[in-house]
Amino acid sequence: MTTPSILYRITPRNPGAHLFEVSCVIASPDSAGQKISLPTWIPGSYMIREFARNIVWLKANANDQEIAVEKIDKATWSCAPVDGPLTITYEVYAWDLSVRAAHLDDTHGFFNGPSVFVMAVGQENEPIEVEILPPNGDRYSDWRVATALRPAHAPPYGFGRYKADNYDELIDHPVEMGTFSLASFEACGVPHDIAITGRHQADLKKLTEDLKAICEYQIKFFGEPAPMDRYVFLTMAVGEGYGGLEHRASTALICSRDDLPRANEKERSDKYRGFLGLASHEYFHTWNVKRIKPAAFMPYDLTKENYTRQLWAFEGITSYYDDLTLLRTGLIDREQYLTLIAETITRVLRGSGRLKQSIADSSFDAWIKYYRQDENAPNSVANYYAKGSLAALALDLTIRAHTEGTKSLDDVMRTLWERHGRLGVGVPEGGIETIAEEIVGKNLSAFFELTVYGVDDLPLKELLAQFGIDFFLRPAEGSADAGGKPGAKKNASSARAVLGAKVSSNGDARLVHVYDNGAAQAAGLSAGDVIIAVDGLKVGGAGLDARIASYSVGETVKAHAFRRDELMEFNVTLKPAPEDTCYLAIASNEDATFTAKREAWFGRKN
Ligand code: ZN
Repeated sequence: MTTPSILYRITPRNPGAHLFEVSCVIASPDSAGQKISLPTWIPGSYMIREFARNIVWLKANANDQEIAVEKIDKATWSCAPVDGPLTITYEVYAWDLSVRAAHLDDTHGFFNGPSVFVMAVGQENEPIEVEILPPNGDRYSDWRVATALRPAHAPPYGFGRYKADNYDELIDHPVEMGTFSLASFEACGVPHDIAITGRHQADLKKLTEDLKAICEYQIKFFGEPAPMDRYVFLTMAVGEGYGGLEHRASTALICSRDDLPRANEKERSDKYRGFLGLASHEYFHTWNVKRIKPAAFMPYDLTKENYTRQLWAFEGITSYYDDLTLLRTGLIDREQYLTLIAETITRVLRGSGRLKQSIADSSFDAWIKYYRQDENAPNSVANYYAKGSLAALALDLTIRAHTEGTKSLDDVMRTLWERHGRLGVGVPEGGIETIAEEIVGKNLSAFFELTVYGVDDLPLKELLAQFGIDFFLRPAEGSADAGGKPGAKKNASSARAVLGAKVSSNGDARLVHVYDNGAAQAAGLSAGDVIIAVDGLKVGGAGLDARIASYSVGETVKAHAFRRDELMEFNVTLKPAPEDTCYLAIASNEDATFTAKREAWFGRKN
């Protein structure tokens, strides 16, 4: 075995205490004193997470002697100059059950490189090996390893040595260890694995068939060969959870175990379609953001925020294609697709933050706003995922309309891949707009000023009409109404009275969000207040919505609420439920032109 420039060793030293022990041997440390640092954030999740706060202790050794090491900022250590190899040893506390950091207990271990591997400053481009070791003890003898790291000296799915060309690659391959279930399939000749950790009863055959359809569609969409030679879906199944993080040859997913398909299910459930949408989203990122990258991310600066106004495109376009992939591969039908779009429109319309912040500005401020949402977020933050996906939809339909269906957003993505992703050239700010204009052959600045840099609502009703799809808005029928469907109460004689707040759905009636211009805000109620009675009668979270709806719009009710430990009284004049709930339908006056345009967009016959 040759000695790599940098060798890491990671051991789940004490699963019960959630502690990994990591060592890093640097063969040729900086003669002036080697600096090491840990990232403050993980690419794909745009928030400063301060991974160094989970380092419990750290020491440095050389020539069998401990040497001086001094912390010089929150994430950087400086070691005394030494002759010969330098060994850094430290302990990492790993108790974050998410896709972004590290988690270790008796049931499994999971880690992302940025949270566990210190970087040897100045040696970022040196080749690396990492030895992944099992915990001590017979009870862990059936543990295996799932990762897209390339083995240097390790059996398939086994503990042992893995390698990476540089630090950037090392930290882009999360690692799962434990007794996961494993299924494999090929997509366009590329081996794919799905490893599922946690208790579940998933039908792995169904799951791999559906994932294969998604992967093959997207590989062919950008063009063969695929840019990776293998791919791993690392999936944690838990009671309640949802999330994913993209990597160059893998993704880490967390889902509810009920999201996974069961053997006895004939139809795909809504929850399973949600899981497929998540897998499709992260897989599309293999191209869009992992290889087609904003210039601001080339390279990543992991010590601080990396600013770009383009996350709307990298997340929004990816969000647009995640469900469109399910439609184009037949995993959902066109009615289900229209329902999903209408639910997204509804989600966007329910946040007045969209009228104050553009998705370009939301991208820029993701670090302090979108990723750090508080009780006022719906009133102040534009969701660059949801509104970004609608901007992508609007752009796709606009390109199709301008070019009589000869071009589409698909061509923009393929051009981005050819000019940026494939060549490793970052996309400059505004670069996607330039390519779209080139493909349409027209100036689209008015379109982008409105959709990306503006705060007005998108012209979706007009655009969808050109593809034979009618757009409807109605008031929500209750707090669980997510839109997407016409609604049951078509002939309601008058508008439903609402409070203008999101209330916790069980337990106390705690106000989670108080919406701008709603009845609750006008009465002086605040997020965090707990309403205990309406007109002298006790209420809880589950019944408040219905109680308020039993009054008429314009009536004033007396609400008693605790703010902290102080009982307060509010007179709330009820307002009508806003028309913020969308559903879409194939136009009744359908003609062949509409059908053809829509079929081209949906990529399939109706
Ligand atoms: Zn994403």
